[in-house]
Amino acid sequence: MATVDEIRHRVSQVVDPELKRSLGDLRQIRDVCCSDDGIAIDVELLTPAYPDPDRLKVLIQEELQDEAAAGRSVTVRIHPTVRGRDAGGRIGLNVHNIIAVGSGKGGVGKSTVAAALASGLKSFGCRVGLMDADVYGPSIPHMMGADGQPAAKELQGPDGRKIVRIEPIDVGGIRLMSMGFFMEDGQSVVWRGPMLHKALTQFLKDTDWGELDYLIIDLPPGTGDVSLTLSQLVGLAGAVIVCTPQQVALLDAVKAVDMYRKVNVPVLGFVENMTGEIFGRGGAARVAEELQVPFLGEIPIQACIRELSDQGRIPALLDQDSPARESLQHVCRSVAMEVARHLLETPSAPTLEIL
Ligand code: ADP
Repeated sequence: MATVDEIRHRVSQVVDPELKRSLGDLRQIRDVCCSDDGIAIDVELLTPAYPDPDRLKVLIQEELQDEAAAGRSVTVRIHPTVRGRDAGGRIGLNVHNIIAVGSGKGGVGKSTVAAALASGLKSFGCRVGLMDADVYGPSIPHMMGADGQPAAKELQGPDGRKIVRIEPIDVGGIRLMSMGFFMEDGQSVVWRGPMLHKALTQFLKDTDWGELDYLIIDLPPGTGDVSLTLSQLVGLAGAVIVCTPQQVALLDAVKAVDMYRKVNVPVLGFVENMTGEIFGRGGAARVAEELQVPFLGEIPIQACIRELSDQGRIPALLDQDSPARESLQHVCRSVAMEVARHLLETPSAPTLEIL
């Protein structure tokens, strides 16, 4: 009969089928308990969005088949936990992973994907915030059906002084903030350079996000100031680039990759949106391969996506009976796994110092 240490050693050699590394290497084994009758193993998952936890369970059980054959029961318990860079520490945020969603060009569905990503990660059980930083067209509140204005509340700072924090709007458990809440119509035009930097900094810092596993930030389209500002402020887990299969949108996406690489933001990969008869299919996957960035999945052009977005019901796209559920879940899983993979490769936060 194997001892606890022997069991732990054997389980630590099981290779995670998604990350292709051993559980020991990934520090995923939380606890191993043994008695004469049974073995219980507690395993941590790197994200609740992990694609197939049961497969991992089976692999561990197979490893301990001989113990089961000898009459010991083998129980594997899975505990989803989100690790992160704790990217916002520098400005006092308690957020494990900050994911930017960008595009080279407007109208490719960037905000839709950002809202769907937040909704999908929430549906897997993650603690999620969604920040609309698209000052040139803040559409997230409408898509998510958020009404009302965020309230300000006074708190006591560590030195006894009063500090003001803005309370995000709660949409089905997603903490949502939009620069749009604080803009007059047309004001966005003048938000360039230092002003935009200041507004964004304040906006991120002064929001009472609470503890989050993922904060999704919907960036303005293009290769502009906002991504640069963000990469100076926080250690981004990475950027998701949304594009359509059309050539022109793809070329813009290539420029976006170049820009993120210049400012040291990991590119998590491409999402192809509006795949289908009208725009074609597969363009983004091809370009992703050429540029050696991951392809995170495709989202078909579907009436329900536009309709639910117009109705302010993006979270319903993840409902059991939604025709968009499968593709969106796939994209969410790919993004979460890519974040986990980057974290394993480069555990320290990338920061671009402000000159
Ligand atoms: P962007 O943020 O890139 O400007 P939006 O997310 O605002 O783009 O999307 C533009 C329009 O396209 C919206 O009306 C949205 O509902 C619609 N849309 C986005 N993705 C899809 C899709 N996969 N299928 C159908 N309509 C979509």
